[in-house]
Amino acid sequence: MSDIRNVIIIGSGPAGLTAAIYTARANLEPLLLEGEPSSTSDQPGGQLMLTTEVENFPGWPDGIMGPDLMVRMREQAARFGTEIQTVKASRVDLTERPFRVWVGDPSGEPTYTARSVIVSTGAQSLMLGLPEESRLLGHGVSTCATCDGFFFRDHDIAVVGGGDSAVEEALFLTKFARTVTLVHRRDELRASKIMQDRVFANEKMRFAWNSTVSAIHGDTTVEGVTLTDTVTGEQRPLAVTGLFVAIGHRPNTDLFVGQLDLDDNGYLVTHSGASTSVDGVFGCGDVQDHVYRQAITAAGSGCMAAIDAERWLEAQGH
Ligand code: NAP
Repeated sequence: MSDIRNVIIIGSGPAGLTAAIYTARANLEPLLLEGEPSSTSDQPGGQLMLTTEVENFPGWPDGIMGPDLMVRMREQAARFGTEIQTVKASRVDLTERPFRVWVGDPSGEPTYTARSVIVSTGAQSLMLGLPEESRLLGHGVSTCATCDGFFFRDHDIAVVGGGDSAVEEALFLTKFARTVTLVHRRDELRASKIMQDRVFANEKMRFAWNSTVSAIHGDTTVEGVTLTDTVTGEQRPLAVTGLFVAIGHRPNTDLFVGQLDLDDNGYLVTHSGASTSVDGVFGCGDVQDHVYRQAITAAGSGCMAAIDAERWLEAQGH
């Protein structure tokens, strides 16, 4: 039984790495499954690997590049003895303890067993799927107004989407931008009435109804987009230097369906700190947060999950 881990952390964004730092410093010898390189947020380091300048993480008065911040957090986790494996969990069994975690072939023997598990698998911003979108992400294309709005002072920018997120992002961006054009594929917003009232009353707002963004222009930064009318098929240019994609998020919870309580949108449900519906399993970061979605809040919740796991293990006599 000696190879049963005290804690396995699944996911290596700010939440998972902070949980690793704390559990490592508590001598729990955590194993961190950091994921595998890919083009989405579901990769080592998470969504910050897809961003450029981060100016709102405390302690970095001159800002830091998102990937640099994640490299430093990873080094800090490793320094205190976190074992980091560059692999993805392919299956988990949380129905009995010790919990079982598979890497690779999910039909074979489990790869790891653990007394506790911290879920920090993050979430992904849904994207339009245009080729220029990933190339210009962090260079005029953004998925986070709170993070990047400041860079667009007096710019003309566009927000794609018609839900509460898009309207909230658009309203936030009016604090900086000269104009904000909301590009929506229908002629009616999905957002709540109160948010609609606010966005229609804002004099900086413009609306491109029945429109999708069909192309993004610019070599090193956004220089404009092409809109396509969803009714007539006509195309027209829109002169913007920023494009915020706000068409929703998808939490990375596929592994846990049927095992942990998820809400209607698939987010992991946590309560009383970082507890989940299964004793000994804790959740932190964007996988359980559809409200704040910030690196600092993810890191804070990673700390909570680590402390909760440590106390829970101690109460179990480990
Ligand atoms: P959402 O409600 O699913 O809205 C997504 C929007 O993006 C919809 O308007 C949808 O168009 C559009 N869209 C989806 N895929 C698209 C594509 N490929 N191209 C162009 N447009 C596309 O997502 P959300 O706004 O992120 O909100 C998620 C949940 O969080 C909701 O329950 C929302 O109420 C809640 N929320 C609440 C607040 C708040 O209360 N302050 C803030 C944010 C989010 P269609 O309308 O045509 O489907």
